[in-house]
Amino acid sequence: MSIAIHKYDVVIVGAGLAGCAAAREASAAGLSVCVLTKLHPLRSHSGAAQGGINAALSAEDSIELHEFDTVKGSDYLGDQDAIRLMCSKAPETIRWAEKMGAVFSRNDEGKIAQRPFGGQSKPRACYAKDRTGLTLLQTIYEQAHRDGVEFKDEYYVADILYKDGKVNGVFAYNLVDSTPMIFNAKAVMFATGGYGRAFKINSNAHANTGDALSIVARHGLPLEDMEFVQFHPTGIAGSGVLISEAARGEGGILYNSLGERFMTKYAPNKLELASRDVVSRAITQEILEGRGCGADKDHVLIDLTHLGEKIIMERLPELRDLAITFLGQDMIKEPISIAATAHYSMGGIPVDINGHVRKNTQELVDGFYAAGECACVSVHGANRLGANSVLEALFFGRHVGENIVKDLKENKIAFKDASSNDADPILVKIEKVRTSNGNERVPKLREELQQSMTENAGVFRTEKSLLVQKEKLKELKQRFNNIRIDDKSKVYNTDLQEAIELSHMLDFSAFIVEGAILRKESRGAHYREEYQARDDENFLKHTMSYMDKDGNLTTEYMDVVLGHHELAARTY
Ligand SMILES: Cc1cc2nc3c(=O)[nH]c(=O)nc-3n(C[C@H](O)[C@H](O)[C@H](O)COP(=O)(O)OP(=O)(O)OC[C@H]3O[C@@H](n4cnc5c(N)ncnc54)[C@H](O)[C@@H]3O)c2cc1C
Repeated sequence: MSIAIHKYDVVIVGAGLAGCAAAREASAAGLSVCVLTKLHPLRSHSGAAQGGINAALSAEDSIELHEFDTVKGSDYLGDQDAIRLMCSKAPETIRWAEKMGAVFSRNDEGKIAQRPFGGQSKPRACYAKDRTGLTLLQTIYEQAHRDGVEFKDEYYVADILYKDGKVNGVFAYNLVDSTPMIFNAKAVMFATGGYGRAFKINSNAHANTGDALSIVARHGLPLEDMEFVQFHPTGIAGSGVLISEAARGEGGILYNSLGERFMTKYAPNKLELASRDVVSRAITQEILEGRGCGADKDHVLIDLTHLGEKIIMERLPELRDLAITFLGQDMIKEPISIAATAHYSMGGIPVDINGHVRKNTQELVDGFYAAGECACVSVHGANRLGANSVLEALFFGRHVGENIVKDLKENKIAFKDASSNDADPILVKIEKVRTSNGNERVPKLREELQQSMTENAGVFRTEKSLLVQKEKLKELKQRFNNIRIDDKSKVYNTDLQEAIELSHMLDFSAFIVEGAILRKESRGAHYREEYQARDDENFLKHTMSYMDKDGNLTTEYMDVVLGHHELAARTY
């Protein structure tokens, strides 16, 4: 079949903060840039970031301290060269965003206000009320538009064109009418965000299905540190919708059903402001031991009433709205019901410090880049600190954009023409899904996937639960071959899209489970009940797993980049 081939210098998949920032840099340098996104750019999950973006701006803070907090927060698995780069560029990133037009909240002196967040030694999170992500995304998107970036919304990217160690472009189809297309480019960048939708209780947008990870993995390329999934302590009970860490930063206090401030037991110094993994485990432990609240004893309470109406309306208006909408609880008047929720993915597509995708522990792929939550550069190691991820997306987005410009100017990547035949095998696969006529239903399989991932690969993990999950995933993959799609049309076929997304979730979930089985220690967000201590001797290393054509995984390990922050116990 002959299909259209569009040519650009740079094609970026994803229009969140990472994608928009990279696109803006590349376009401002005179390159032709196209951004493909399955959503309208402003609906990217970056827009949901409420709490803030870290930078050591105040006189009492320092870059060194930001770096130290990040290394410690990562449970020493973060690569210290990348952490140093990000923390040292954070103040400049804030100034850049301001210059672009983002308006941050101010303190009484007229300086950018900063709030405390978990695991940070100083108030460091800059914010725009509790709409930080949306403010930044709107600003950078507008600027990228002005600088000539071509945005194509509602285009679903289903594969990369990868040959002889080089990525030459992507395959996408238009969601409006399923028209397939090739986007042929010198440089391709993935900025497709997180993948929390693999879990039942999660804070992520419906679109966060990790497409890019499975696309990459199906070409035999590695995924890194996938076992590290962050559970945020304060998801709205039942749904997992996020109550930002700003709630704890502003002074929220956690209580169990006995009215005990239980964090005094788990983190006597930092209390509610210990890092996320510590607080999430504490909440889950209280619930497991029967001290949860409500009829089902399945949540705890966060109390903000002592802040008073003025502060809540000034600093947490969106959070108040969310709790009223989803729980019918007004945080000005009463404590609200929360439990841990799958929130952020530390692992992802492995990249070097300049965003080049790794082919293995030694080599890089030509013409292929990634940044933001889908990438693993690894600044968060085993656990991300709040407000470091918007920083990562914005800083590394820009930085990788600059590196693409540099690589192209130095002629490091040659343009390779794509042919429409390149799309044939991909079209066959999509057609097979669209016309499938079995008897399994996608929503049912998705529900089983999410439920079982939360149960068996969640906050607490055991060898047994993980092996059960490994089998469950094999079963679900088998059953996926027998799905039925009722909508056979080509116009806005959301059934087709959801089926493809489910297939992606099944593939990358296997990496989460495999990494978790092999990592016989507890570190950061990964907690194994049989191995409750961190084991630096055997596991101070990055997991790199590869999938073969039959879906079997093999794993090797990659060294962590250490620096001048010595290994130490992580206590709060
Ligand atoms: C509720 C919530 C609150 C948060 N609050 C904070 C916070 O206060 N501070 C902080 O530091 N971090 C926060 N985070 C995390 C942070 O917001 C994200 O990690 C970050 O914004 C990710 O940005 P991104 O650019 O990598 O991806 P995203 O913003 O998620 O964008 C992904 C893009 O990829 C596109 N895409 C994906 N797959 C495809 C495909 N197959 N084809 C085409 N397009 C595709 C999507 O359309 C979208 O445009 C929060 C996260 C959540 C869920």
